[in-house]
Amino acid sequence: MIWDSIRGHGERVDWFRRTLRRGRLSHAYVFAGPDGIGKRLFAKTLAQCLFCQRHSNEELLACGECSACKQVLAGSHPDLHQVGRHKGKSELTIDVFLGPLENRLREGLCYDLSRLPMNADRKIAIIDDASAMNTESANAFLKTLEEPQPHALLLLIADNLDALLPTIRSRCQTVRFDPLSSRDIAELLVQQEPENEEEDEQERVTDPVEAAALAELSGGSLAIAKRLLNRRLRALRDALYQQLAAEFDSVVLAETLNSGIEAIGGDAAKQRHNALWLIRFGLEFFRTAALHLSDQPEGTAIPAAVTFARRFDARSPEDFEFVMSLFERMAETEHHIESNVSVPRCVEILCEDLGRMLRPTRR
Ligand SMILES: [Zn+2]
Repeated sequence: MIWDSIRGHGERVDWFRRTLRRGRLSHAYVFAGPDGIGKRLFAKTLAQCLFCQRHSNEELLACGECSACKQVLAGSHPDLHQVGRHKGKSELTIDVFLGPLENRLREGLCYDLSRLPMNADRKIAIIDDASAMNTESANAFLKTLEEPQPHALLLLIADNLDALLPTIRSRCQTVRFDPLSSRDIAELLVQQEPENEEEDEQERVTDPVEAAALAELSGGSLAIAKRLLNRRLRALRDALYQQLAAEFDSVVLAETLNSGIEAIGGDAAKQRHNALWLIRFGLEFFRTAALHLSDQPEGTAIPAAVTFARRFDARSPEDFEFVMSLFERMAETEHHIESNVSVPRCVEILCEDLGRMLRPTRR
């Protein structure tokens, strides 16, 4: 079934089906929710169902075989208009709506929507990155939104509802999408082929325990979980776990982490991002160890963290407190890296502190 490929949003499917049966489909919706949870895919699937020639709209189903379905899947349906930010641009610019300067009002989404549908009984627009509209483009789009063509259905995708201009927001019906469950993400990670974009060497996970561990960190976003598939980042995480479980040398550990972050590559922002993930892996390590000590081991246990926890006395509240203090020290570093303190320096001081806290005289 067409909707089977979409995880976690069954209630939204039912809601749209009921809306269609009552003939109450509105002319504009904002699909709101965090990045990477399937809003875009939902919008595209909704469009496919509305265009499918073998199913009525009320069924909200698509055969995947008729010419309309094939055109939607190939991105060539003449009545489906998909727009978003230009590559490398941080804003959704006015030319997307009104056409380039030399061809204003003769191209662009607003022009496309002003024309009658070619094959279907309606036109559908999917406006990606809607929260990235600037004032100029929002005002241009507002006209289309205020005087809707009876044949047009507008689906706006917004990761950040607050960034959307109130005038736009008030003219659309908001449909909220929740983050995916860790279980759904773990299953999708195992099933889907990784995408290798921008020299990001992603490696597929086959181990369900590994998939569950990455899913746990993703905050319900498949996009984030996929970023964690980076082969070098995961190798560096494993090195971190191994050293934390052993009696590590602070200088060596800092050197391993800092050179590892550099080796993963990317610009300064990307390196900071990867450093953050590494610290979050470290947080998971100490969290797992603490849970183990408090007799609440989890399914996604990190074996090295369990080894580490065995150094302590599970009945001693002081030992539990001590492991939590390591967790808190790690969380402090997460905060520092988020607030733009130099990454190598943060890592060095963290390793020094952890080394001192864990010195054999104490443990
Ligand atoms: Zn079809």
